[in-house]
Amino acid sequence: MADVAQNLAKILEEIPKDVTLVAVSKTKPVSDIQAALNIGHLHFGENKVQELTGKQEELADRKDLKWHMIGHLQRNKVKYLVDFVHLIHSVDSPRLLKEINKRSRNAGVVTNCLLQVHIAEEESKYGFDEQELNELVNSEAFQGYEHVNIKGLMGMATFTEDHQKVAREFKSLRSLFENLEVKGNKLEILSMGMSNDYKIALDEGSNMLRIGSNIFGERN
Ligand SMILES: *Cc1c(COP(=O)(O)O)cnc(C)c1O
Repeated sequence: MADVAQNLAKILEEIPKDVTLVAVSKTKPVSDIQAALNIGHLHFGENKVQELTGKQEELADRKDLKWHMIGHLQRNKVKYLVDFVHLIHSVDSPRLLKEINKRSRNAGVVTNCLLQVHIAEEESKYGFDEQELNELVNSEAFQGYEHVNIKGLMGMATFTEDHQKVAREFKSLRSLFENLEVKGNKLEILSMGMSNDYKIALDEGSNMLRIGSNIFGERN
């Protein structure tokens, strides 16, 4: 079994204080989350709605815990998240954003979101490209969304040993992050970097890491 507290403490020591570490607890038991909470960690990420809501209910007394939705989100499940989620990293289509706005309006909340950008080579990865991002944020519909707050961008690099390639992909995301204005504002959050590539991501300007296996151990 992974020593969650020890692994987490080690990574927190390595990374700058102004970088947020999202501990990705997907597939891992609530007891592992408790171990991280016990040393004061508050940001956790999940990639499946059912697992996220289940864990949220079990830990509902921890009002200070901040849940991040990082996986592909189906529109029909948005309604289960909006009343508690801290940040949705995986907004990957205009239709999903429209639904988050609608459900957030119904719930009387404003939901913090990141737009997911496709930077990797793999076809299977979700997200906007540069043109789609620009179209979205300049669209008339978007101007009317008052219940979503676009805080930044999220991306996943190609899974490869080729550091140069990963660095290039993160650079491209950073450049979008720095240049994109949303309703006249600069973006704040650049979510990039996982267990295998977070050091490269930090070098390329990430300020939010999503790390799972280096903290909680390998998943099955
Ligand atoms: C699983 C996952 C992570 C964490 O992956 P590790 O390699 O275990 O650090 C980060 N981001 C997303 C979107 C994920 O699904």
